[in-house]
Amino acid sequence: MKHEANRPDADGFYGQYGGAYVPEILYKTVDDLRQAYLPIIESADFQQEYRRLLRDYVGRPSPLYHARRMSEKYGCRLYLKREDLNHTGAHKINNSIGQILVAKRMGRRRIIAETGAGQHGVATATACALMNLPCTVYMGATDVERQQPNVERMRMLGAEVRPVHSGNKTLKDATNEAIRDWCCHPADTFYIIGSTVGPHPYPDMVARLQSVISEEIREQLAEQTGRDYPDYLLACVGGGSNAAGTFYHYIDDARVRLILAEAGGMGIHSDRTAASLQIGTDGILHGSRIKLMQTDDGQIIEPYSISAGLDYPGTGPLHCQLYASGRAQVVAVNDDEALAAAYELTRTEGIIPALESAHILGALPKLTFRPDDVVVLTVSGRGDKDMQTYLKHLKT
Ligand SMILES: *Cc1c(COP(=O)(O)O)cnc(C)c1O
Repeated sequence: MKHEANRPDADGFYGQYGGAYVPEILYKTVDDLRQAYLPIIESADFQQEYRRLLRDYVGRPSPLYHARRMSEKYGCRLYLKREDLNHTGAHKINNSIGQILVAKRMGRRRIIAETGAGQHGVATATACALMNLPCTVYMGATDVERQQPNVERMRMLGAEVRPVHSGNKTLKDATNEAIRDWCCHPADTFYIIGSTVGPHPYPDMVARLQSVISEEIREQLAEQTGRDYPDYLLACVGGGSNAAGTFYHYIDDARVRLILAEAGGMGIHSDRTAASLQIGTDGILHGSRIKLMQTDDGQIIEPYSISAGLDYPGTGPLHCQLYASGRAQVVAVNDDEALAAAYELTRTEGIIPALESAHILGALPKLTFRPDDVVVLTVSGRGDKDMQTYLKHLKT
């Protein structure tokens, strides 16, 4: 199977999703980036610095861990890709480090970012401290409250955290505010977007920067199982970056089944959900054409998930395409199922996952495997930031 639409065309479209819908004032900034990103990322100089930082600073390669007790429970050979062990606790750092190296090479001196759970804010604040660049992070006021430890880390790292009080006061609103800032400072500011969303070339740039995940999976599987591909790849999806990184080198490999878990919230047919792939309709948000939660007259429906990192009303264009073409299977995992899955991984393997990652763990009981199936599941982050939520709901 060869799906050309799984890579963006020259205008950044994956099938009918993607593109670059930006205000006039950002047109040149986005176009400069479109022309610059591939030559920079593919240059030997970039690759050398990026690879060195991923190894010595982030701590890559992240382990591929054969989870024996969980394997027994689910009747398959389950391997966990441990992005939770990266510096700063999630996969986000792969992207932030990569984009700041792009920013430096484009001569940009000021960094802005949006954040939901705070993981992307922390990763970007970390990269800015490392590179000595000023950093402003927009964060919804609700998220500032529920993700205090990450707010404190960003401040410790020297970033300015600007709480956003509009809308639901979560990720969508923070993104609006970051775009507003970018419009005011298009010449000197680099906007480090934290997921495979936004106008082209961001979804492709972020996917490429995260593709180190599947590159490592290929090597690690060959070493541990004697075969360099799995039967299943599983990842949770907010905007889509950890999933894009997990799938990247296998995206046209029909031997590999791709499974995404999106946040069901209180149930996809309730009015409290963030399952935008399954209940969304086509529209334009934050610079690209995607599936999004909206009313018939185009008003955004406020998303809801227990997990701040999945609480976004849309999903990036690549994943919209993977869903629309049937290449990826999408399951919704509700709050209670994610919580149960987080406790299960903790008590079975001694790994406390991020609430976002708990959503893909919560997909395991919904799937049927054969005993020989090799299943690789990406644990996108660790649960330190979610301890309050976990302890509040803990029953045993
Ligand atoms: C941000 C985040 C996500 C969701 O973002 P994607 O871009 O879909 O990967 C998932 N897991 C963790 C730990 C996160 O911090």
